[in-house]
Amino acid sequence: MMPLGPTPIPMNRSSRPQADLPGRSLRAVWHPCTQMKRHEGAPPLEIVRGEGVWLIDAQGRRVLDAVSSWWVNLFGHNQPQIKAAISAQMDRIEHVMLAGLTHAPVVELSERLLARTGLGHAHYGSDGASATEMALKMSAHFWRNGGRPQKNRFIGLAGGYHGETVGALAVTDVPLFRQSYAPLVRVAATVPVPDLRRKPAQLSEAEWVAHCAGALERHLQQHADRTAALIVEPLVQCAAGFVVYPPAYLARVRELCTQYGVHLVADEIAVGMGRSGSFLACEQANVRPDFLCLSKGLTGGYLPLSVVLTTDTVYAAFYDDDVARGFLHSHSYTGNPLACSAALATLDLLDDARLAANRELAARLDAIFAPLHAHPRLTHARHLGLIWAWDVADAPADFARRFAAAALARGALLRPIGSTLYFMPPYVIDEAGAEHLRDAALGALHAVLGAARPSATPAHPAAPERALP
Ligand SMILES: *Cc1c(COP(=O)(O)O)cnc(C)c1O
Repeated sequence: MMPLGPTPIPMNRSSRPQADLPGRSLRAVWHPCTQMKRHEGAPPLEIVRGEGVWLIDAQGRRVLDAVSSWWVNLFGHNQPQIKAAISAQMDRIEHVMLAGLTHAPVVELSERLLARTGLGHAHYGSDGASATEMALKMSAHFWRNGGRPQKNRFIGLAGGYHGETVGALAVTDVPLFRQSYAPLVRVAATVPVPDLRRKPAQLSEAEWVAHCAGALERHLQQHADRTAALIVEPLVQCAAGFVVYPPAYLARVRELCTQYGVHLVADEIAVGMGRSGSFLACEQANVRPDFLCLSKGLTGGYLPLSVVLTTDTVYAAFYDDDVARGFLHSHSYTGNPLACSAALATLDLLDDARLAANRELAARLDAIFAPLHAHPRLTHARHLGLIWAWDVADAPADFARRFAAAALARGALLRPIGSTLYFMPPYVIDEAGAEHLRDAALGALHAVLGAARPSATPAHPAAPERALP
């Protein structure tokens, strides 16, 4: 049994190596997105170093970080340029408040994000959830400033994930994350998403898109006068288990939002920064949102930073002699210079040539992953940019946990969501890394499922109820 109370430990920060760090972690740290009791007998893995796509544990074993450390890492661990940018900034100024003061990293980053996305007036936070909340608050406040305070409701897509603070949970349609806090949350309306796996066979893709867009249109016809914004994850709903929908749906959503006078918030926290194959996933549908949220890969996985970018029209609605009409939202570390420097170095690395090289890399990796596409128990193969996902047919109830352990034993950090297996590797993975990843995944599948046999029943996508990313 794990002792429940904190156990006193000697305070000796210089002692190396650290004795029983995993055990001490379980006593001292409340780990995220974790039922702590499940760590009985399976302590967290102690990581001491990183090197490109590799994590190195306390025993010197190398584990390929195939989930980019929860989707944040773009150019590998221990990345020389990002590291140098942060240390150079550290010699100048580590942090100053951003009210009444400014500094070069935050100005340059904001200018470069404007040049890259066509959206500006960058407002910074530290995490994805705070970006979601800033965008929702800005949207409702925009309508209030325009004399329409009743436009304060939101719409999300079924299965959407936008973070887990109380405000963000309003638009996060994941029962497992929301149900315990239901009384605290003002739940948004949800509309169906044209998940390509669920397309009825008799409908074409265009008809399926039209069908789902029709549901949104009916909602807007009734509720647009009370609705501030619709928030979407463009093209891929990662946390829902990598639900992929056609760009045509996003384009139609943009048209409907414009037609009915409702803001479109694009949450590109997971799919932005090149992950989808283009700098923004929205580009693939030729869509410009009213609000754009970025975080996760924004600093290449080095420091927490998020940003909301918006239009001149939105900005102008707050520009006034009256203080209360301004956007009076702040976080202590808003626009932190070290985080902005990391983001600038990340943008240097993520130029158009790199995006093109990533697309070629993705095609080569896809060929290496062919045995997974052909695996008799893997269905609904999805691939966009540097994201791959498959559903495991007839997966045992505890598939995700058992697969993660089996993959770790084979040198790959993989965390299926329910019965959805996915790869989201850093952009610096090479062919040898991809082969290692493929073989670890095939070995782990074999260990968990036994000898591969075709599914007897038609495959259904994972039930999201008990799925943890
Ligand atoms: C991770 C994520 C968030 C929340 O970001 P945090 O930094 O974890 O708060 C929001 N939206 C999407 C699409 C995400 O993937």
